[in-house]
Amino acid sequence: MTDAAFAPGRILLVGFGPGHPDHLTVRAHQAIGEAQVVIGYSTYIDLVAPLLKGKEVIEKGMTEELDRCELALTRAREGCVVALISSGDVGVYGMAGPTYEVLREAGWHPNGGDVEVEVVPGVTALSACAARVGAPLTHDFCAISLSDLLTPWPVIEKRLEAAAAADFVVALYNPKSGRRTRQIVRAQEILLGHRAPETPVALVKSAYREREDIVLSTLSHMLEHKIGMLTTVLVGNSTTFTFDGLMITPRGYANKYQLDTRAVKAGETPGRSLSTGLSG
Ligand code: SAH
Repeated sequence: MTDAAFAPGRILLVGFGPGHPDHLTVRAHQAIGEAQVVIGYSTYIDLVAPLLKGKEVIEKGMTEELDRCELALTRAREGCVVALISSGDVGVYGMAGPTYEVLREAGWHPNGGDVEVEVVPGVTALSACAARVGAPLTHDFCAISLSDLLTPWPVIEKRLEAAAAADFVVALYNPKSGRRTRQIVRAQEILLGHRAPETPVALVKSAYREREDIVLSTLSHMLEHKIGMLTTVLVGNSTTFTFDGLMITPRGYANKYQLDTRAVKAGETPGRSLSTGLSG
């Protein structure tokens, strides 16, 4: 038996952030360093290339995701430390879920399994994109992926409708690709059913990467700009405003305080629920 057979293999599920080393967490950096085998989509491999010297690197295409998970398990069972890497956060439309699904199918268990698994969180696209345009997510928000490759479109429409009606700020992941062009048009229609045409919208492409491109638009005009696979679309809520190229969603301080004098408004108390109470 080789030495490797005595050490349990490990799978590290690593989110490396939006793509710039400044936004790679310390643990993600270490985890990639610990790995002997690094598996990921080719674009991701390119983004972390400087960290991969001397490692076995396995690049896979988009449609081979389950194969990647399977391969990670096989190599970990041989005793290797394997990193499966995703951009952003590995648990947000990333490889963490599919890997656990494959592991469960293969008879693995979280306690006492033959392979150790660690999920390493990262800065997801919505946080990265929000930071580039100011503070659009400061109140309740949700993420919706417009990709119907694995999710039936009616389910996505239902979520868009619910988010629009409930006035969530919405971050749209996977908004459009070469083949999926109708989904963003439908999303805009649904959102316009509940929100003003002038609602601020940010189109952030490749945040913190070389070809970063940021456009501030509105719900009615957003489709006049380029939207693609590397864009995240941030749609404001009914209180979101723009300010010299920034997009800002108020936290709610103006409900309680005069923002100019900081005085507490009549009938309100700091540290207590708003005077309107549970009935609103
Ligand atoms: N796990 C990733 C998301 C993968 S889904 C994360 O947590 O960020 C792929 C989608 O993420 C893209 O279609 C795009 O909408 C978004 N995205 C990923 N990286 C991005 C970046 N640097 N800038 C803007 N959007 C990005």
